[in-house]
Amino acid sequence: EVKRGGKNGYRFYSAELDEELLFKIEIEADLRKAVERGELEVYYQPQYRMPNRELIGMEALLRWHHPVRGMVSPGQFVPIAEETGLIMDIGRWVLKEACRQAKAWHEAGLTKVPVSVNLSTQQFHQPDLDIEIEQILIETGLDPKYLELEITESMMMDASASIEIMNRLKRLGIRLSLDDFGTGYSSLSYLSRLPISRLKIDRSFVMRLEESGTEQAIVTTIIAMAYSLGMDVIAEGIETEGQLRILTEERCLEFQGYYFSRPLPPGDLFPTDDWSLTKRGA
Ligand code: C2E
Ligand code: MG
Ligand code: MG
Ligand code: MG
Repeated sequence: EVKRGGKNGYRFYSAELDEELLFKIEIEADLRKAVERGELEVYYQPQYRMPNRELIGMEALLRWHHPVRGMVSPGQFVPIAEETGLIMDIGRWVLKEACRQAKAWHEAGLTKVPVSVNLSTQQFHQPDLDIEIEQILIETGLDPKYLELEITESMMMDASASIEIMNRLKRLGIRLSLDDFGTGYSSLSYLSRLPISRLKIDRSFVMRLEESGTEQAIVTTIIAMAYSLGMDVIAEGIETEGQLRILTEERCLEFQGYYFSRPLPPGDLFPTDDWSLTKRGA
């Protein structure tokens, strides 16, 4: 008997491929119009320092309200935007929007913390990125010390070229952090040469922290490494009290995750009747 939709059937496999290709083609076409149609939005996820739950930053995370598909996650469309070059326009838009928003919060007296913006590989290698960012900082009036750019190890194929890009960015007075840390292949000596202020421990380690001694050992090493290099360290994707406890015991002080708050649209971040920002989100 041949089961329809069975996982081993050739037809199932090829149908799945067609669907994936179709998805890509559609997303690409729709994404071209998304910016001008105002379908993109930036959400913000708060970052805290313990033990006092002090708000220390906001990570800007792109959201796309697709007219038909509903919410499409950046994990799905950022790689496509990257492949097609659309990420250049989108990335510039996110940077400007995040800087504008941070400045607005500062001026409204709501909070004065830095905003973190994810860079894409293509943006990182854009020759005039530093000039573009300087321009955005001038236009929005945001003090450079309140902008942090998140980069990943996977962007740095050529070590010395990457270090030069980072040094140019640092000259603007902004901060740099290393996102998804632990999933790449940076050597300790390489890492010590990077002008990075903060390591972000990848969620994949945090996720398995309560079940696996291996993950605990890795995380302990990352934290010790960060401090010995004079960097801060933040854990991403904290969802449970247990994860928070283990990381705190290992002397990690900074946290970002659903346990504290999901990423939220700006209008939901500072409700007038509750400024605590904890345990909220949709
Ligand atoms: P990332 O920079 O590592 O961002 C963290 C991701 O983890 C976000 O997913 C965030 O919503 C999610 N997250 C945070 N806390 C938790 C938690 O406790 N549990 C779980 N399960 N997830 C948590 P999101 O927003 O879907 O973004 C995914 C990735 O897409 C980002 O990973 C980043 O690499 C990329 N991305 C997002 N916005 C932008 C952007 O503006 N530009 C670029 N180039 N990439 C972006
Ligand atoms: Mg990030
Ligand atoms: Mg990350
Ligand atoms: Mg990531």
